[in-house]
Amino acid sequence: MTIERIHNWINGQACEATDDSWIKNINPATGEVINLLPRSDEQDAFDAVAAAHDCYLSGGQGNAGAAGLNASQRCDLLMAVADAMDERLEELALAESLDSGKPFLNALNIDVPRSIENLRFYAKAAAAQTTPAVAGENSINYVLRQPLGAVSLITPWNFPLHLLTWKLGPALAMGNSVIAKPSEITPTTASMLGQLFAEVKAPDGLFNVVHGFGHEIGDALVRHPHVKAVSFTGGTATGKTIATVAAPLLKKTSFELGGKNPSIVFADCNLEQSIASVARAAFFNSGQVCLCGSRVLVAAEIYDDFVDALVEQALLYRDRIGPLVSAEHREKVMSYIELAKEEGGEIVCGGQAYGDPNGAFFEPTVITGLSHDCRTVQEEIFGPVVTVHPFDDDEHALELANDTEFGLASSVFTSNLQRAHHFAEHIQSGMVWVNDWNLRDLRVPFGGMKQSGVGREGGDYSFKFFSQDRNVCVRYNYE
Ligand code: NDP
Repeated sequence: MTIERIHNWINGQACEATDDSWIKNINPATGEVINLLPRSDEQDAFDAVAAAHDCYLSGGQGNAGAAGLNASQRCDLLMAVADAMDERLEELALAESLDSGKPFLNALNIDVPRSIENLRFYAKAAAAQTTPAVAGENSINYVLRQPLGAVSLITPWNFPLHLLTWKLGPALAMGNSVIAKPSEITPTTASMLGQLFAEVKAPDGLFNVVHGFGHEIGDALVRHPHVKAVSFTGGTATGKTIATVAAPLLKKTSFELGGKNPSIVFADCNLEQSIASVARAAFFNSGQVCLCGSRVLVAAEIYDDFVDALVEQALLYRDRIGPLVSAEHREKVMSYIELAKEEGGEIVCGGQAYGDPNGAFFEPTVITGLSHDCRTVQEEIFGPVVTVHPFDDDEHALELANDTEFGLASSVFTSNLQRAHHFAEHIQSGMVWVNDWNLRDLRVPFGGMKQSGVGREGGDYSFKFFSQDRNVCVRYNYE
């Protein structure tokens, strides 16, 4: 049987890697090969950068963006791509589900619609942008918000299409051209997007996709002098590697990195709602979410009952989640179960592989009895694994919540408004939810503190990242 090949998209063309080398893309639910993707090398990456750079230059480098598209033409283009994605909703969802292992209905009802919404949201928001003008005594200042040029978007495997479009929307709306480097574990929807850009007759070189291993082509996509900015979502270690390349070159960078996020449950919360939210935060997408609530902190007086309720939810999630993204990743998650046992933890439920022996399924797992400073509690596992810890009072809860090198997100469950505001102010995380988890409005800042990242995305924060504001000062009075 011939295995299908997917391609890079460079300068509006589907291309193979220069040296005709291929990587197998494996379905984590069955272990079968889905397709082959190009194992690109540095030259392929440079070709993509050249295409993006030429596209940008052809626009004249002024207020018009890449390929000379003005702001409203760019928004129309994003809308056209979003419409084309809508027409291919099921195809995209199937590809996303096969690549990542997430249930088809999740991809169909959540991932792909959200990806389409990303493009539509940024197209509309860009059209509504304003920049300040300041009238002085003898002068007026105004701001020119202009594109940067070619920008690299490097994205992970947990929400492949969603995280790519989350960056692509504002990058293109601001007039840049793009080189996308998806994870080699989940490459298919990025290639399909390349095809859709060609179908809607986007200018050549506006959206380029290069497949391959991050450690082989990532450096080229950061270092190349024609790359003006790098937006990265992925692991903290990779973020630091990219930062060491980009910093001496003074490149603009945005880092959305890992998390070890607390869900904090007080006795005065709405228990039924809170348990459902805590379980979703723990197990949705098999816990492969940077925002996932993997440290559950529970008021001592409700601790035993809460653990029982969470275990009940974990058993329900067993039938709702897909496999982990790969067999290798499952090995990593399993190694933390062994570590948790060595560190004195009790595996209250889960902790085992299940389902198709060729798949990478792993049971939702609840662990108790661990000291908060041990590795299982401090390191990001990125699987359906939570540790649960009792706390005595507010001060203790806050101390545990902030006892981590990460600072991406947190959830506080309480009916006490004063307490909610106090925690919102003092928890060290870029995002705080009160009585929910992952309730998103695309206009607000998304990003982390501490080791969870630098920079913010979302709404105007993304527009600012993907552009440069220039001041023009006009003197109108010589008196
Ligand atoms: P990685 O950091 O391994 O990879 C992310 C992307 O970077 C991939 O496309 C990868 O390519 C690429 N890459 C790897 N090495 C380099 C390099 N030297 N230079 C440039 N690019 C490189 O993350 P994962 O894909 O494993 O994703 C999981 C991680 O991402 C988790 O730790 C999670 O917390 C984090 N994450 C954070 C989010 C946030 O918003 N804060 C959201 C989602 C995930 P390749 O796959 O080929 O190695």
